[in-house]
Amino acid sequence: YELKKGFFMSNNQQITISDEVKEFLKSNHKLLINGEWTPSSSNEKIEVFDPATEQLLTEVDSGNAADIDAAVAAARKALTGEWSKITSHDRARMLDRLADDIEANFSVLSEIEVLDNGMPLELAQYSIASHGTTLLRYFASWANKLHGQTIPVSPAGAINGESLTYTRKEPIGVVGAIIPWNSPLIFAILKLGPALAAGCTVVLMPAELTPVSALFLGHLIQKSGIPKGVVNIVTGYGETAGQALSEHPDVDKITFTGSTEVGKKIVEASIGNLKKVTLELGGKNPMVIFPDADLEKAIPGAARACFFLQGQNCMAGTRLFVHEDIYQVVLNGVKEIAEAFTVGHGLISGNDFGPLISKTQKERVMSYIDLGREEGAELLTGGDSFSDQGHFVQPTIFSNVDGEMRIAKEEIFGPVLCAQSFTHQDLEQIASEANDTPYGLSGSVWSQDISIAHKMAMLIDAGQVSINCHAAVDPAIPFGGNKQSGWGREFGAEGLEAYLKTKATTVIF
Ligand code: NAD
Repeated sequence: YELKKGFFMSNNQQITISDEVKEFLKSNHKLLINGEWTPSSSNEKIEVFDPATEQLLTEVDSGNAADIDAAVAAARKALTGEWSKITSHDRARMLDRLADDIEANFSVLSEIEVLDNGMPLELAQYSIASHGTTLLRYFASWANKLHGQTIPVSPAGAINGESLTYTRKEPIGVVGAIIPWNSPLIFAILKLGPALAAGCTVVLMPAELTPVSALFLGHLIQKSGIPKGVVNIVTGYGETAGQALSEHPDVDKITFTGSTEVGKKIVEASIGNLKKVTLELGGKNPMVIFPDADLEKAIPGAARACFFLQGQNCMAGTRLFVHEDIYQVVLNGVKEIAEAFTVGHGLISGNDFGPLISKTQKERVMSYIDLGREEGAELLTGGDSFSDQGHFVQPTIFSNVDGEMRIAKEEIFGPVLCAQSFTHQDLEQIASEANDTPYGLSGSVWSQDISIAHKMAMLIDAGQVSINCHAAVDPAIPFGGNKQSGWGREFGAEGLEAYLKTKATTVIF
């Protein structure tokens, strides 16, 4: 290893790609439309690169508006076809079968995810095994438990007791699912699981930077018994395929995970037919550590919360508020962990910190690091990009950050922690600083005092607050953003509701 500014960069390491993954990468990828792998009508390709080596991995088709039209037509036909006649028990079985197939292809999918996204292998394995398939099975188990209510009513024209209303839960219809690059397979599953459990049909558009695992998933979907046209996968660019999907008059709902900026474009594009929209957008998430916190947990917890996925995580704890009595101890601890990361290709065992997704992302993060210096924050560690090859940026910590600085308010989406101390126990004051961003996605409170911890959790304006951990994820925990972090919730019963519509039927005897 070469020791560079306290960080270990693994040098000259040869990665080994399995034959199965090599074969898949070499194949002629097309679009999954109506159950058939179909070439894009554009005849154009998107090159996909390994962000750790910048080498070409593969090429995928660049779908355009005509391909989106074909995929939406297939999804519309499938919505009222065979799929609508299949029992909810069989829908559940098909989703379980898909989860079985993902498990059977676990190592191939993990390897693809590392090559495509850059995440460390252990993380890819963990996220697929403990989130991906669990998530799919969780939603499978909902498929046969969706029901409405019977409601005693007295509408005009009916005397009391001579009328009844019942509600039915119906699939919302054709869903356009647009996902980001930071955890590609998990986001594909997070959209498909509840949509299919609810009986919807889907056109899935993976991010142009990381389309490979979704295409592999497409082959598993073909084997799962899910009828043709229920899941369509169109790879393409956001501005063309994504825009066409969001505007499409025959799409009933868009479920989008990505940046706040693109989320706003999707809302505009959806106006034409007033399609329903769920948005999971950006975050600038606070972590508040009180002096009585268990620092054995809080210090590694804060480091993990910020640097997990190289900070390319909407829930990343990127703003650290620490009581002044423990400020130095906490910062020294987090710094020590950050400097001990072994940076390099995710397929090399032991590397626990990978590259950023692209050159653009690396430049964006480096420009925020420069901005932090200009704004007068104290650079405690990191602050550089790493090697000539791969989009690596050091885990970076700024201390003495002021809440008015842009680095404290704007989402950087990279490994940059902004720390500041507080001197008092005025929870409302701490909350007003912690909440002072356009976002409201996630947050955490670290304290042994249950009253302080719960009061602080109530005051943080976010869709999800964790106590003595950060960003707890489970398929049953509702997740989503307040303010400009989004519309609606995913996961849990609420996540499923977003793919259903209620029909009330009234009978007068
Ligand atoms: P992005 O918004 O640039 O892209 C997301 C997806 O939108 C991609 O598939 C892209 O092709 C597509 N897209 C781009 N322009 C489009 C358009 N005009 N119309 C339709 N689709 C379009 O986001 P990203 O860079 O891929 O991901 C990073 C962002 O995602 C961060 O802001 C992060 O916080 C957010 N994110 C949020 C969550 C959450 O659950 N809240 C989870 C992960 C990531």
